[in-house]
Amino acid sequence: MITVEHLTKCYGDFMAVSDLSFEIDEGHVYGFLGPNGAGKSTTMNIMTGCLSATEGHIRINGYDIFEEPEQAKKTIGYLPEQPPLYMNETPAEYLRFVGEAKGLKGEKLKRQIEEVASQTKIEHVMDRLISTLSKGYRQRVGIAQALLGNPKVIILDEPTVGLDPIQIIEIRDLIKQLGENHTVILSSHILSEVQAICEKVLIISKGKLVAFDRPENLEKLLLSSNGISFTAEASREETEEILNEVDRITKWDVETQEDMLTVVTIKTDSKDMRDICRQIFFAFANHKIAVLEMASKKANLEDVFIELTEGESGVGEE
Ligand code: ADP
Ligand code: MG
Repeated sequence: MITVEHLTKCYGDFMAVSDLSFEIDEGHVYGFLGPNGAGKSTTMNIMTGCLSATEGHIRINGYDIFEEPEQAKKTIGYLPEQPPLYMNETPAEYLRFVGEAKGLKGEKLKRQIEEVASQTKIEHVMDRLISTLSKGYRQRVGIAQALLGNPKVIILDEPTVGLDPIQIIEIRDLIKQLGENHTVILSSHILSEVQAICEKVLIISKGKLVAFDRPENLEKLLLSSNGISFTAEASREETEEILNEVDRITKWDVETQEDMLTVVTIKTDSKDMRDICRQIFFAFANHKIAVLEMASKKANLEDVFIELTEGESGVGEE
């Protein structure tokens, strides 16, 4: 449905997007995940025909965004990072304006406005000035304009930024609903957000694609981050001897050892952390050695993200 090939964008000497290639299939919710300054907005602006590329090709529903922008753009609805809302207009006026710009008119325009207003649940604020609406409602109006013309693909740049927690939940629910009938691409720098909404995640760092997978597979990427740590009331030698008896544990680190207290961390790629914890517990219990503390930590997308983007915080960007 969307093919991006070797996309590169330079602002002067600075390469904001570098040789980015990926494919988007129909009917899923995709997440662009990356720290501020990673190149998410630049990529989205190019995909939606709002910005030119330095190099590369993009095809949307078979249309080349650079060569057949009119047809390509008809199949995309876009909510930019800073939606161009006109504060002294009402949503009704604004949506009419956007709809006309998309080539809709008459009854069809009226029907579509009613439809998108109902989808985004803004019917009751249609005649209020946009300037008087909460940020959550403004974002709904922004999503409503993206939906006009019934495009197959909806692209949303950081749709929940600046919203309060309740508004965030509402917008996420709305996005999930949209995903039932559209291909949705959203960007976010919040891991839990893409984990909650997206079926596939593209992690972008410094303009490059560093991972593209389902959220649960990204977690598997960092199997080694699954860890258990515990404190045994034993010497280092005794502790290691007992660990050698435990199936499925082949590697460990002794963190500290003093006063017959040995702190050990174990990295494991097992999904069944509980079973390993249980085995450790009984192995030590069989030797009448107390395990005083035990904690397990499961790798999540956060770990994958940190690992993949290694130390890049994007501080000072945006
Ligand atoms: P993101 O949306 O992931 O935060 P952007 O695509 O906005 O990232 O920006 C990527 C990089 O390109 C950043 O370092 C940003 O400062 C830079 N950048 C973005 N727009 C411009 C511009 N118009 N001119 C120069 N540099 C830009
Ligand atoms: Mg951005």
